[in-house]
Amino acid sequence: MIRQFLGSVLLCLAGVAGLAGLAGSAAQAQEFRAVAHVDPSRSSISLRRTSGALVLSLSQAVPYRVFSLDDPYRLVMDFREVDWQGLAAGDIAPDLPGRVRFGPFRPGWSRLVVDLEAPLAVETAAMETDPETAEAVVTVHLARVDARDYAATTGARSAAPWAPPTALDLPPPVERQRGDRPLVIMLDPGHGGIDPGAQRQGMDESELMLTFARELKDILVREGGMEVYLTRDSDIFVPLAQRVNKARARRADVFLSLHADALARGRATGTVIYTLSETASDAATAELEEREDRSDILAGVDLVAQDDAVASVLIDLARTETTPRSEMLGDHLVSGLRTSLGVMHKRPRLRAGFSVLKAPDIPSALIELGFMSDASDLEQLLDPDWRAEFAYGILLALQSWALEDAAAASLVRQ
Ligand SMILES: [Zn+2]
Repeated sequence: MIRQFLGSVLLCLAGVAGLAGLAGSAAQAQEFRAVAHVDPSRSSISLRRTSGALVLSLSQAVPYRVFSLDDPYRLVMDFREVDWQGLAAGDIAPDLPGRVRFGPFRPGWSRLVVDLEAPLAVETAAMETDPETAEAVVTVHLARVDARDYAATTGARSAAPWAPPTALDLPPPVERQRGDRPLVIMLDPGHGGIDPGAQRQGMDESELMLTFARELKDILVREGGMEVYLTRDSDIFVPLAQRVNKARARRADVFLSLHADALARGRATGTVIYTLSETASDAATAELEEREDRSDILAGVDLVAQDDAVASVLIDLARTETTPRSEMLGDHLVSGLRTSLGVMHKRPRLRAGFSVLKAPDIPSALIELGFMSDASDLEQLLDPDWRAEFAYGILLALQSWALEDAAAASLVRQ
């Protein structure tokens, strides 16, 4: 029965040569209207062993807040309606390579993060507005304190305008699909906003994955009749735990995280499908796992222990049922992609402890479409035809997985 089903889907595949035209919509609508601009010629960030100073010249005054975070030491500034586009960290902090990041963080808000090498606490912070030009200058002075005093001052002091969901907000566990309704799929384009992910040839992983997620959504809806949502549909930062919560809020049957990372060492070429494991498959996977989960920390979000949301016994029970469903999903993804792409890596199935795979009740997989650090992978990733074939591979996989999963469900419960 599954074979017959696959055959009919493959016919669909042949009929969509015109699909390539969908791709390449790199231009993304921002979720907010950015009004204030940064003047880099009058802005600077300087850090010394015992002090630091930040001066940011804005075209107009905007609401902002400043706070420190610990472990590692960071200075975080949030701004309402500041447009950072076209600006590089080196423009305002040429002496601090790799230690300054900024970009969209929440709709209407952007964030600036400075990595500190020492516990430099905020001594003064002020915004002054020129009465003539209405231009504003934000000045922050940092002073060295001891580690304990620093720790006492960390965290966002004012109430966050975007309070994270609490355990009580979470809807009940997702009911298992039995093949009698459209599949609900949550697609998770990796990274976004202040966290661009891998960067090669002027292209960000976050942008590429958003483009692909939109293309994939279109195919899953149009050809598969599925109900598809995205964890983000703009260049915005979404913390990892919130990505999983969004899947549960939509009562998703499947969660698919989409990535195309860069890795300096180890095996880093070709498509890889990850499912959850407490221990990483190999050293390269461990490096990737650490890097992915660090993106939250680097962006200034301290990781929320998602497991606190539900009693651990319930989590274990749910996971006992979900783990084989995720494993099956991983296997179907490999065979679906092998069918549509024709080729695949020798060892395409790996296991890792990525935070986004930790929903205890939603079958989840993380797909590395390829690695932006590999020249031939990057060429494929930028090719709309290749991406269309890849999307069809995922469609095949989800359809055949759903059949097998529904059959298994009838054995588990009557
Ligand atoms: Zn990634």
